[in-house]
Amino acid sequence: MGIQYHISLYLIYFMILGEHRGKNRKNIMKKLLITILLTGIGFGKINVVTSITDLADIAKTIGGKRVKVTSIARGNQDPHYVEVLPSYMMKVKRADIYLQVGMELDLWAQQIIDGSRNRKLQIVDCSQRINRMEVPTNKVDARLGDIHKYGNPHYWLDPENGKIIARTIAAALISTDPAGRNMYESNLAQFLQEVDFAMNLWRETYAELKGMNMFFYHNSWPYFTERFGLNVVAHLEPKPGITPSPAHLERLLRIIRNDDITLIAMEPYFSNQAPEYLHQKTGIKIVKLAQSVGAVKEADSYLNMFRYNLEVLKSHLNK
Ligand SMILES: [Zn+2]
Repeated sequence: MGIQYHISLYLIYFMILGEHRGKNRKNIMKKLLITILLTGIGFGKINVVTSITDLADIAKTIGGKRVKVTSIARGNQDPHYVEVLPSYMMKVKRADIYLQVGMELDLWAQQIIDGSRNRKLQIVDCSQRINRMEVPTNKVDARLGDIHKYGNPHYWLDPENGKIIARTIAAALISTDPAGRNMYESNLAQFLQEVDFAMNLWRETYAELKGMNMFFYHNSWPYFTERFGLNVVAHLEPKPGITPSPAHLERLLRIIRNDDITLIAMEPYFSNQAPEYLHQKTGIKIVKLAQSVGAVKEADSYLNMFRYNLEVLKSHLNK
């Protein structure tokens, strides 16, 4: 239902009330203006809703002025667990495109999409062209826990995957809005160039991170550590989504005492309790990394998230 609909409604009003002058006319004019303003906000833009802020940031970069983008999860929220609210369904009801993480990370998105009853919605699984890690080779692989059972879904934490995501998003925008093709393609080319430029710089600047022995709280980082050469020795969660148990922490203590473990890295939304315990027993340092855009204030864009994380890690080398 577009602005034309409202304008024609008011034209009919004018025809019916044609004889009236003065106050009445003024009121109608006022209502007409308000309606135009309300329907005009975001009017004509492609409405994109995403599960996480990283997809939103890339969609904004590719879509530019032609799109309006909203993320359901906040950057400082665990993307595995998002409470489904009716207001999210209302957002998706008005959307043209929904960008999912896929690999069952955002199963909750399906409920939002179903609840929106939006039949025109183009649903895009951004994991479709990703080279997936930790995909189970047999059906029951208990190490993966319940929340990574189709492979590791945290693929956006490799800038090279950011390029694949950007291509997927550009294709989705072009299919919904062919008139914007030139702009989407040129924004995509610019983004790919920016990532390549940054990666070339980072490969040199952060070469010394290679082989750094670390613990991570949750298994969110295999794409990141593979790309930058960090060595993940263990996770604080015994399995993805399972809180550290005393027995598991004792095992980790033995590892810290026997090996040269530099750091524990964790997402800002996890409890400090288990990392603090290990820190008090051994002095091991704890750092908070941004797993998504907006997880910390410095990570205010997709590429700045990597800049922040790499810089934090580098600052803890040889200390
Ligand atoms: Zn996870």
